[in-house]
This record gives sequence, structure tokens and C-alpha cells, in this order.
Amino acid sequence: MLQASTPSPKPAPGEKWGDFLILFTYLRPHRAKFLAALLCLVISSLVALAYPLATGSLIDGAMHSKPGPAGNMLRWTGGLSLNRVAWLLMLLTTIQAAASYGQSWWLAQVGERSIAAIRLDAFGRIIRLPMAFFNRHRVGELASRITTDLGQLQSALSGALPQLLGQIVSVSGGLILITMTSPRLTLVMLSSVPPVVGLAVMAGRRIRKMAKQTQDKVAANNVLVDETFQGIGVVKGFTNEGFEISRYQHRLLDSVTSSLHVAKQQAGFGAFATLGGFGSLVLVMWYGAKLIESGELSVGRLTQFMLYTMFIAGGIGHFARTFSEMQRLRGATQRIREMLRETPEVDSDHAAEMPRIAGELEFTGVAFTYPTRPEIQVLKGISLRASAGQRIALVGPSGAGKSTVVAMILRFYEPDSGVVRIDGRNAREYPLGALRKQIAMVPQEVLLFGGTIAENIAYGRPGATQAEIESAAQQANAHDFITSFPDGYATIVGERGTALSGGQRQRVAIARAILRDPAILILDEATSSLDPESEQLVQQALERLMVGRTSVIIAHRLSTIRQADQIYVLGEGRVVEAGTHAELAARPGGLY
Ligand code: ATP
Repeated sequence: MLQASTPSPKPAPGEKWGDFLILFTYLRPHRAKFLAALLCLVISSLVALAYPLATGSLIDGAMHSKPGPAGNMLRWTGGLSLNRVAWLLMLLTTIQAAASYGQSWWLAQVGERSIAAIRLDAFGRIIRLPMAFFNRHRVGELASRITTDLGQLQSALSGALPQLLGQIVSVSGGLILITMTSPRLTLVMLSSVPPVVGLAVMAGRRIRKMAKQTQDKVAANNVLVDETFQGIGVVKGFTNEGFEISRYQHRLLDSVTSSLHVAKQQAGFGAFATLGGFGSLVLVMWYGAKLIESGELSVGRLTQFMLYTMFIAGGIGHFARTFSEMQRLRGATQRIREMLRETPEVDSDHAAEMPRIAGELEFTGVAFTYPTRPEIQVLKGISLRASAGQRIALVGPSGAGKSTVVAMILRFYEPDSGVVRIDGRNAREYPLGALRKQIAMVPQEVLLFGGTIAENIAYGRPGATQAEIESAAQQANAHDFITSFPDGYATIVGERGTALSGGQRQRVAIARAILRDPAILILDEATSSLDPESEQLVQQALERLMVGRTSVIIAHRLSTIRQADQIYVLGEGRVVEAGTHAELAARPGGLY
């Protein structure tokens, strides 16, 4: 059932609740279940409304009193024996139980499935967004959108939204029923209860806000104490003990004042709630009692009326809370929608095919500025060339732009001016996914994903057979250490590959690249040195990997540099020198 659809919610700027529409797009495949759940909800809310009615009838039945002229309008149990009423109540309870089961179960299914679909869509979208997007956003923030924001959406879907519907049914149903019981009493009730509840809700919200501010002040005081003790040397050195004491005293005074202010408001709120809440109930009861006295209402009907009043009051109170929850949700949906609107990389669907390239690489006057840092031009017209099968080394000080050159080959970014050509054609003309399939990178810091070693090697070419994986591992000098583990290729590498040594991780990465069989190889040499034996194994594996491929090496080792067909010395975004090792070494006074 879990399918990633690609709905394109129309942007609706200024439309206040329009952001919720996205939810409905994803609910569509589950609309039958969703509607069934809502129906159950309405049924169960309606049945709940029957209890006060039944209670009233039971009381009247027991007291053999007449419901009174107004109450006659509500004769659903009229003439039924007490036993019958009880049986009827049992039946209603059963219906309610069934409805509540249906509501919860269906809503859960709809909620889980539609949110999972949104999650999958969001994940799929984000992962396909261009690198520049990832520079603009923090990883934690993106992850939180998929987890927290969508979690909130899910709880709204199975919580707040249906509750809102339930509350509307209870409040409006209750209002209709009390109006039928006694219109006059209803007027009395309406003039007192809803205003009291409304005021209480508003006051409660204000007090919570103030309490939060007070807590912040207390927290700031604690920080002050902490900092003062940590910097005790400075305090004593400047003989500022007295100053610190009076500073703390002022802060304490401030927080005590605001705590007491909150406490006063809370006390007032309590008094108001008691007075207003009970006062309005007393008013209704007093008026109801007068109606009983004049024979217009029975005891049972008044009880029924009071029970409905509580329903209504509770409904209004909840309504306010649900409303503020929905407002919080709007933020979440807005953020999710924004994300779904971002434009993915051009044709990154990776389905396109293209013939194998020879691997000739050429940069002509490539200039580039990271969009997130417009003030620095990182590449200032880089020109370089590697014929098919050649090895070129990029060297230069940190920040010179070596990694950025590599990012341009992978087309993580497009040049602002100048051209990157592959096999003589502008790199932009190739389908992005297909081009990247012919490039492999062995990074400096190898990131392994949780899973087995075999899975990590197969990351180079998903779907590779075990034999292919093992052959790649053999060429990468990784087979021996892998088979020395009790679980062999099925060994689980810890999170981020911590269970393997640096040299072992590099050989896994090399096996990955071998399996990918790229035409262009990018190699970011590790700066940290390995032990000589491990170093030799890695070096040997790399040599095998580079045969017959164009290799671009961000080089740190002299041995690598010596063997390069061409060395490009970068400095502040320019190629400052180029040539073979012998040529460059013979040139006097160069950066090299
Ligand atoms: P190192 O040897 O330290 O890795 P490098 O030669 O590879 O350095 P680059 O990583 O290409 O240099 O960085 C070149 C410049 O671009 C630096 O000034 C760096 O701060 C900046 N830079 C790199 N990546 C980004 C980015 N994603 N967003 C903004 N600026 C960046």
C-alpha cells in the first residue's frame, strides 16, 4: 500500500489553512477507511449524547414523575420500563464500543499509511535535491522535518482533527437536546457557561505563557551561579565578590517578583474558575429548580440538562485546546510543503542510460562561487586536462579549491562560467545520473553504512552478486581480512564503520569503486598515515583500481605525485603551476 505519489500541491500564499490541504492529497488513497472512521466517530459521539437522556429517563421512571410539558418533546424512552431502558443502554454501549474500535483502528491505519507515504515522498525529494540545498540546510533540521514535523502531522490526523469533529458533534448535539428539554433554561445556561469557559481558556493560556517566562528567568539565574563559580579566579582576582552578590541579589529579586506575579494570577484564576464555574452551574440549577417547582420540568430532565451542560462546557474547553494544537501544526505542514516544493536535480532519476565514456576530462576557465557564500569566488577560472586513462594530481594548500574541482566533476554544482568537458562534450549534456554512474570516488574519510561488509561493497553497484563482491574485495586486498572475521562477508560493520580500522575501511571503499567499474576515478588521499603494511596493501589496491581509468587524485603523498602524468598546483582558486614532477621540481622558486 506504501507508494510514493508525487502530488503537487498548488502554492497558496496567504491562504491561512491551505497548508492542511497537503494532508488530504495523501489521504485520498485511503478515503474509504477515513470516511468510515469519521462515521464511527460521529456515531460514537451521538451515542454518547444518549446517556444523559437515558439517565434522566431512568430517574423520572424511578420517581414516577412526568417529564413536564417541555420534556414531553423528548419521549424516546417514554413509556418504557426501567428494565427496558437498561437494556437499551446496554445496546447503545455495545454500539459505542464497536464504533470506537472502528474509529481507532481505521484512523490508525489511515494515519500510519498516509504519513509513511508523505515521509517516503519527503525523503525521496530531499535525497534528490541538489547539493546546494544541503549547504543551505543543516542535516539535523532536515531529519527533524521527516521525524518531528511529520510526527506532529500524524498525531493531528489521528488525534486533533477527529477530536475536533467529535467536539462539534457533542456541542451541537448537546445544544439541540437541551433546547428541546427546556428552551428557557437553555437561554439561562448559554448566557453564563460559555463566557465563563471562554474566559478560563484565555486566562489559562496567558498564565502558561507567563509561567514560561518565569522559568526562563530562573534558568538564567542558575547560569549566572554556574558561570560565577567557574570563573571564580577572575571574581577573586578583581575582588568582585560583593559585586557578584549584589548582582545575584538583583536577579533573585526579579525572579521572585515575577514568580509571585504568576502565583497571584494563578490564585485569581482558581478563584475565578470556582466562582464562575460553580456560580454558573448554581444559576442553572436554581432556575431549573424553579422550573421543577412550577411543574414545568422533572428532576430527571434537570439532571439530564445538567449533564448536557457539562458536555457542552467540556466540548468548548477542548475545542480551544484543539484549535491551538492545530495552529502549531500549521507550522509543521508549512515546512513540509516548502520542502516538497523544492526543485530536484535535473533528471536525477538515474534511469537514463548512456554508452561508456572514454574518460577524457577537460576544464576550461571554470569559475565557481558557492551560492551560500557569495562573497568568495572559490574557483577563478581553472583550466586542466586529463586524457583518457591518465593520472592527474591536484595539490595545493588547504582551501585552494581542490575538493571543489572534484565536486564540479561529479556535477554537484554547475560552473558559473567556463566549461567542464567529458570526452569533448559539455558535461551538462549528459544525463546526470548516468554520468555519475561512470564516476567513482574513494574519499579520504570512508563512510560505511550500517549493515554487512558485503552490503557496503555492493553499494558501488546495487544488485551485484556475491561472486562479484568477493572478486572486487580480492582485487582491493580486502578479501583476506574479511574472511578472517568469523562472519566473513556477513560481518556487521558498526554504525559509521567503526568496527573496521582506517586501512580496512579504505580497502572496502576501493572494492566498492572496483565493483562500480568507473571510467573516471576520483581519489582523495588520506592525510593520516597508516601503518606501513596496511599502507602497502591500500597502495597496491589503488594501483590496480587506477589501471585503464582516468584518475583525478587529491594528492598528499610524494610517491603519488611522482607517478602522476600531470600535476596541477592550485592556489586560491587558480592553477598556479602545472607539469610533471620532474618539470616542476626543476623550476626554481615555484609554489611547488
Ligand atoms: P582542503 O585541502 O582543506 O580540503 P581544498 O583545497 O579541497 O581544501 P575546498 O574544500 O575546495 O578546498 O574549499 C575551497 C574554498 O571553498 C574554501 O575557502 C572553503 O571554505 C570554501 N567552501 C568549500 N565548501 C563550501 C561550501 N559547501 N559552501 C561554501 N563554501 C565552501
